[in-house]
Amino acid sequence: MMLVQKYTLSPGTPYSTSYYVAASARPGPTVMIVAGIHGKETGSIQAARKLVAMIRKDQLRIRKGSLIIVPIVNKKAYRQRIRGVPDLNRTFPRRTGQTAKHPLSAALFEVAERYHPSWYLDLHEANGLSQQSSKVLGQTLITNPGSRSVPAARKIIRGINRTLRVKSHSFHLRLHELPGSSRTAAARILGARAVTVETGWSLPFSTRVQYQIDIVRSFLSEAGVTKG
Ligand SMILES: [Zn+2]
Repeated sequence: MMLVQKYTLSPGTPYSTSYYVAASARPGPTVMIVAGIHGKETGSIQAARKLVAMIRKDQLRIRKGSLIIVPIVNKKAYRQRIRGVPDLNRTFPRRTGQTAKHPLSAALFEVAERYHPSWYLDLHEANGLSQQSSKVLGQTLITNPGSRSVPAARKIIRGINRTLRVKSHSFHLRLHELPGSSRTAAARILGARAVTVETGWSLPFSTRVQYQIDIVRSFLSEAGVTKG
């Protein structure tokens, strides 16, 4: 059984929230997974919570390295089921030495700096279906142009799309630099292979949760943290 350590981010503040660390005895890569930077993206939040439970129940086995999961970054926004004000995903540091513009993003980024993950997955949800329009972000993986995560992201999209029964749910890759976002901060400042996972709002809740879990599991396998 994998021991999952529970910690608190921003203890004693209105932003207090739990995060979890599962570390294998065998050295290996560190993968950090965050969800709920936007409080109303409940499918991604549920997926992150489920992943913690799966590790605890040994349904997801960490064979080397470690995994850090922050299931609900912005609990205050989550309680109200709102995106959050200000948009936390514009407050992360934009370059080395710059501090975050919000106490919560500062606390989250401190954890990221401490563990220095080689992979960083930021789970979100968005409007639309990428198969139907290039202007929407629902059903996409997003990474920064030139990111070392591009080959893995493309491979994972191919794998997921092959198994789809509904063609309109297909995932697509988007390359985008978003200063102030947690993905771009993790990539620029920590040198992590950072990817944002966006499922489409319009899909049923359980479907979105399952896509999120499948994609995270694919990345864990690519990173070598779990067996494929
Ligand atoms: Zn979001």
